[in-house]
Amino acid sequence: MRVDIVSIFPEYFAPLDLSLIGKARANGLLRLAVHDLRTWTHDVHRTVDDTPYGGGPGMVMRPEPWGEALDALAPDELSPDGHTLPRLVVPSPAGVPFTQAMAYELAAESHLLFACGRYEGIDQRVLDHAATRMPVTEVSLGDYVLFGGEVAVLVILEAVTRLLPGVLGNAGSLDEESHAHGLLEAPLYTKPATWRGLEVPEVLRSGDHARIARWRRDESLRRTASCRPDLVGALPPESLDARDRAA
Ligand code: SAM
Repeated sequence: MRVDIVSIFPEYFAPLDLSLIGKARANGLLRLAVHDLRTWTHDVHRTVDDTPYGGGPGMVMRPEPWGEALDALAPDELSPDGHTLPRLVVPSPAGVPFTQAMAYELAAESHLLFACGRYEGIDQRVLDHAATRMPVTEVSLGDYVLFGGEVAVLVILEAVTRLLPGVLGNAGSLDEESHAHGLLEAPLYTKPATWRGLEVPEVLRSGDHARIARWRRDESLRRTASCRPDLVGALPPESLDARDRAA
């Protein structure tokens, strides 16, 4: 997958050299480039913002540098390697909520282009113009407001990269974790069996795989009902058996 990120704070993305994302980059599974939006400014102060039309507090990101950045990173002409236009992802508290389902959707793309807003956000015409030639998705991390889109991009990219084939050592773990099937994962334990007087549940040490699977399913349902009743409500009825309903 190719990923381009445009930001006025490229330094924010230094952690993308670390851990499994760094390894995915080193292995060529992720071709990632970070671009400074100010590259596409032409005045001595390298200005990217201005006052909002209609008044109000704060500043708005001007359309010209963004337009040039998107033209450069998503040119209309097909490149010799058959490169097509990317999907533009714009973090915004006014976007659609980011979910594991969206992470899977983005992981299926060959090229993602992230536009990090700052100040009060980006002039709407940048998104409207981009939408005439490539898919554009405004994505919200949650119902709160951050200073800028950089942290949102780090989160989205981490969720997406771990879904790319070859990135995780054991891809099977993706199928068993929280949100894989609309539920939260059951509690996890490792050695020692007793720690500070607290025991690992007996069933997990029993070696009885059917009992372990049933215990995990029950705990998963209990935890989801307690922390995220909205998720339980959204489960298709046919995904629950009689034992699930009793849990
Ligand atoms: N004026 C905007 C509003 O009220 O919707 C908030 C702008 S916020 C201060 C600046 C930038 O931070 C946004 O353009 C966006 O890129 C990012 N941002 C803030 N909160 C976010 C969230 N919950 N999810 C994703 N991005 C967010």
